[in-house]
Amino acid sequence: MVYIFICIDFDRDYAIPIQNFKHAISDIVKNESDEITKNPELSASLKGTIESFNPLIAFLSDYKVPTTFYYEARSLKMFNKLQQNLFKNLNKPFFEHGVHGYDHEDLTGEQTGIQFSEREEFELLQRAKKEVESLLSTRVYGFRAPYMKLSPNTIGILSELDFSHDSSLYKQSDKGIIPYRIDNGIIEFPVIKTPKESSMKGMYTYLWPLFEGKRSKEEVIQSYIQICKNSEDSNSYISINLHSWHFAYNISQNDYVTETKIQENINAFTELIRELEEHNVVISTPINWLKENNLS
Ligand SMILES: [Zn+2]
Repeated sequence: MVYIFICIDFDRDYAIPIQNFKHAISDIVKNESDEITKNPELSASLKGTIESFNPLIAFLSDYKVPTTFYYEARSLKMFNKLQQNLFKNLNKPFFEHGVHGYDHEDLTGEQTGIQFSEREEFELLQRAKKEVESLLSTRVYGFRAPYMKLSPNTIGILSELDFSHDSSLYKQSDKGIIPYRIDNGIIEFPVIKTPKESSMKGMYTYLWPLFEGKRSKEEVIQSYIQICKNSEDSNSYISINLHSWHFAYNISQNDYVTETKIQENINAFTELIRELEEHNVVISTPINWLKENNLS
């Protein structure tokens, strides 16, 4: 048996870093005026997430699929304001909630040229955590860094803010992995990247290639089944990672897709989950893993 975590980064539609901006902007607005791009709210498009939401949540809710969401606090707040009826569907006992920055900040400053002091980063992550907790009336313990990039201070700050785990690192593996303790008592749940020489070829366990048409549905399903088959440890896990908008926004086309295509993407995702369920897996979440392995 191997654990499967479905992890959804709840982002503005394809967040990209901009030089000298703390906030990310949606790729679709990158050619808009300064008035729009400089404003963290106006430059965040939720169209893709909103259009994907009903069919995605219908599947997850109907089958009570344990799912982990990592939220940009601003996008969650905007989603609540714009789509109150949809928002309510995020409150499910089998959904787990984590934090993914406030405005999808580049915590390292590598791509924006903006360095956060330790104090600024603490305040930023504290604000993001409080916002997510208050919007969803829950406690939050998990973190995923925007762009999967941690600053040298992030892990210490997560510990001070009472997070228990992080999922911002990649680890090369052709099988399920076991989380491990990193600094300050934080448990790391890395995202698998398969080795180039494996039958899955070099594959990040993000569903980008599927939604971008770079890998066929069959190839993606076979690759995940192969990782499951390779997994020997019964407490190892494989995370399947995706973005809330990716069913509806195509990066290479730089545009939104049709309703039919959204449904096709949802169907490919649900088929992947259904197929994996036939292979001695348990769909779970990081917090459940920590509880079941006495590490919470
Ligand atoms: Zn993100």
